[in-house]
Parts: sequence; C-alpha cells; structure tokens
Amino acid sequence: MKILIDNGHGSDTLGKQSPDGLLKEYKWTRDIAQRLETALKAKGYNVQRIVPETNDVPITTRCNRVNAICKQVGAKNVVLVSIHNNAVSNGSWGTAKGFSVFVSKNASSNSKKLASIFTDEAIDRKLTGNRSIPVEKYWTWSWTKADIGILKGTACPAVLTENGFMDNKEECDYLLSEKGKQDFVDLHVVAIEKYIKSL
Ligand SMILES: [Zn+2]
Repeated sequence: MKILIDNGHGSDTLGKQSPDGLLKEYKWTRDIAQRLETALKAKGYNVQRIVPETNDVPITTRCNRVNAICKQVGAKNVVLVSIHNNAVSNGSWGTAKGFSVFVSKNASSNSKKLASIFTDEAIDRKLTGNRSIPVEKYWTWSWTKADIGILKGTACPAVLTENGFMDNKEECDYLLSEKGKQDFVDLHVVAIEKYIKSL
C-alpha cells in the first residue's frame, strides 16, 4: 500500500491563517505531514508527500501527481489523505472547534470507510470538539454545487481532514502546542493503519 499525503495550501494562498497570524495553515499542515511521514515510515509503510514545495501547487497538478502513482501501482494500492485546518469566522475569533473529515460526492466505499475510521478515532480521542457528527461519520459538501477537487479528481480512496479550527483561540493554542501536533499525528497514524488492516 502506498500512502500519499497532501498538505493543502501553499505559502502564497491568501487568508489561510489564524486571526492573530500565529498559525499559518500551510506551515502547520506541512509540519504535520512531515511528522506523519516519519511516523508511518518508522512503522514500515511506503509513504510519499505529493507536495514537497512550500508554495501553492494547483489542484490539477496535485491530482495529476496522485493519478500518475495510481497508474503505476494500481489505484486500489494507494490511499490519499489531504491535511487542513478549518476556519469559519472570516478573520475574527469564533467558537467552532474540533476535527472533521470530508469525502467527495463521488466517494468510493473505501474512502467512506477510511473517513468513518477517522471519525471513530477522533471521538475516542475527544478531538471532535463541538462539531456535530453526521450519521454517516463523514462530511461532503453536498449542500453546495462545489466538491473537493483533490478528492474528486483522484482515482484512489481519498479523504480530507480538517484538523480543528484555527480561528478558535483555545483550539489554535492547542494546535500550535507540541501535544496538539502529536495528537493529530497520532490520529492520522492510527486511522490509516486501521484502514489498511481492514482491507
Ligand atoms: Zn484548507
């Protein structure tokens, strides 16, 4: 199994930061992606980050990178996780907090399985904050016409994780702490591992 990690946005993507600017989404997700890569490799997994660059790499380029690997080794032997931070308050501090996981509208049963494993683990680890948990145990953008490009455009099972709200002051402090980072890395390691073992 080849595990692909995507770290969302780039340093040149506007607005993706906490209101005080201390948490930059591109930086946090790269940090977590790197730690996750190290942790999974230590367990013997085949891991690749699809965006080693710091700048923003367009969705189509990222999808092409993933799909080239899928073509090489077979899409069923690949899994993709895209790492993000959530925000809701348009540049001011808000009250929403907690982890959530998304799949695309055309998600395969394996994408949904991985997402629900993430949600179960996040509940166990008390990481879901005050977010409601959908019955399906994953979110889609079904209430809009939009879909999530990196999930929609890739051939393998894929989920997008929103790792807490960077515009919640309390959660932002936690996300920036060593414990917060480790908690979210651990969540990803365990969920990915449980998913692979379930196949
Ligand atoms: Zn994001």
